[in-house]
Amino acid sequence: MVEMLDPRAVVGPRTATSAVIRVRLRSIEAPHLIFHDRHGWYCDIHGAACDAVAVARAVTRDGADTATGDAADDATRESADATHEQLADDVRE
Ligand SMILES: [Zn+2]
Repeated sequence: MVEMLDPRAVVGPRTATSAVIRVRLRSIEAPHLIFHDRHGWYCDIHGAACDAVAVARAVTRDGADTATGDAADDATRESADATHEQLADDVRE
C-alpha cells in the first residue's frame, strides 16, 4: 500500500519537504514514512537505504516512459531511467 500525503499536514505549514509518502511493504508491519526534501529521499525510521524508499520513488515517477520500453535493451532503459530521476530531483529542488 502506498499513500501520498500532504507534507504541510505531516511536517508543518512552512516545511521544505516536497513529498511525504506512506509505504506499507507487508501488512503485518507498521508503515514506513518516506520523506523527500533537499537532503534527498529517506525513510523516517530506516534512512535512505530502506526498501520502502525505492517504492516511494517509483510511484512518484512519471510511468509513461517505462511503459514504452519494449524494444529497448536493458542498458538503454536503465540509462533513461537514471536521467529521468535526475531531472525529477532537479525540478523538485
Ligand atoms: Zn523504512
